[in-house]
Amino acid sequence: MGSKGQAPLGPQYVGLWDFEARTAEELSFRAGDLFHVARKEEEWWWAVRLDGAGRALAEGYVPHNYLAEKETVELEPWFFGRISRSEALHRLQAMGNEQGSFLIRVSEKPGADYVLSVRDQQTVRHYKIWWRAGRLHLNEAVSFPGLSELVDHHKVQSLSHGLWLTSPCRKHEPEPLPHCDDWERPREEFTLCRKLGFGYFGEVFEGLWKDKVRVAIKVIARADLLHQHTFQSEIQAMKKLRHKHILALYAVASVGDPVYIVTELMPKGSLLELLRDSDEKALPISELMDIAAQVAEGMCYLESQNYIHRDLAARNILVGENNICKVGDFGLARLIKVRYGLWSPSCPLTGLGGFWEGSAGAWTSLGGQLCAQKLQTRKSLLSRRTSISPMTTTSLISGLPQRHSPEGITPSSLTSGPSGFSSMRFSAGVRRPIQVLGPSIADCH
Ligand code: ADP
Ligand code: MG
Repeated sequence: MGSKGQAPLGPQYVGLWDFEARTAEELSFRAGDLFHVARKEEEWWWAVRLDGAGRALAEGYVPHNYLAEKETVELEPWFFGRISRSEALHRLQAMGNEQGSFLIRVSEKPGADYVLSVRDQQTVRHYKIWWRAGRLHLNEAVSFPGLSELVDHHKVQSLSHGLWLTSPCRKHEPEPLPHCDDWERPREEFTLCRKLGFGYFGEVFEGLWKDKVRVAIKVIARADLLHQHTFQSEIQAMKKLRHKHILALYAVASVGDPVYIVTELMPKGSLLELLRDSDEKALPISELMDIAAQVAEGMCYLESQNYIHRDLAARNILVGENNICKVGDFGLARLIKVRYGLWSPSCPLTGLGGFWEGSAGAWTSLGGQLCAQKLQTRKSLLSRRTSISPMTTTSLISGLPQRHSPEGITPSSLTSGPSGFSSMRFSAGVRRPIQVLGPSIADCH
């Protein structure tokens, strides 16, 4: 779609990657193209593509994360915005990066505004950056007017340990879904490619939407679902939920049998599988803490939306690249007819595992529980071998980054787990001793 005319006023945006339109309303463009944004609608923005003189060339929907405001730090290839320390580590350790590859992220903790994360051999070093008197500091001695100057300086001047900045960390373009106003889609738009697994509700496939976009498709027999109108109203509520740590529901194909529930595809499958398959090297305590914090953040969001999950368990947490975790299968318990002997939701009434949710405090206990349960398993072995004192859930939770500790949630409110909690879901398959270490390096942030 496209039309020439007067461009709306406002800041200009720049395309970060090439984008090919897949629907009539989407707008194709190349990296570097200029835009005005006329309307921001969550993940899709209605944008006007401009020529060099600022005249409108064409308009249509563009994925919001493909644009960055002109002349801002967002445009810099090394600026990664608000990502966690753990995500920075994974990204820098990924293939394609070299000694000195770096990124700058917004700090999650007080005491710094940004953090510079730099690859050093197989590890990653993190340096705090803070504003003071209108200048950016990386240490007390030197200051810079902006992040670009700081980066340029440390491309020639060593940071520490003979380390200096080389190339920006590799950034992959996100894979946006087709823009569709209608969430109910014809089943012909989807192709089932590969079975990923099966669970209480049916089978899950990796699939394609419109032969282009990779998605996960949950296939559920119509007979197991609630009446169509109840189903539709639940779906309406579920599809509004959008958060970095909530699995996005993309579409449903609910006409006919079976019904497809289409969500984003998470390459590493469920957290339960990851916990079972990973040893301490692959999933150290710091990583578990980060996973716990991510899930707690997702659950806090659900609660802020007055939404009850009803079936939180490690098998319903999906893991993506860089160990990004997303809470999935929320609300699904409400869509399914409960048939005796076939399925029972995880809740204190059934005591079949997972977590009961009744307050933010109880919900956020997931974070501590996840680590505590895993630690508990390791601890029983540890106590027989070493004298290192084990951490309690409280001390684990107090160590969570501040963004994961919403107001009113105190470590003490997080320690009382629900009675129906089943430790096996989180500790299954993990039988090894651990060492609980405090922060060891000065630049740890
Ligand atoms: P359960 O009832 O045990 O939660 P599910 O039907 O939800 O099982 O999922 C079965 C399996 O399919 C999961 O263990 C996981 O490996 C895979 N799976 C489910 N959803 C996704 C997804 N969005 N992306 C990738 N894999 C998924
Ligand atoms: Mg599941």
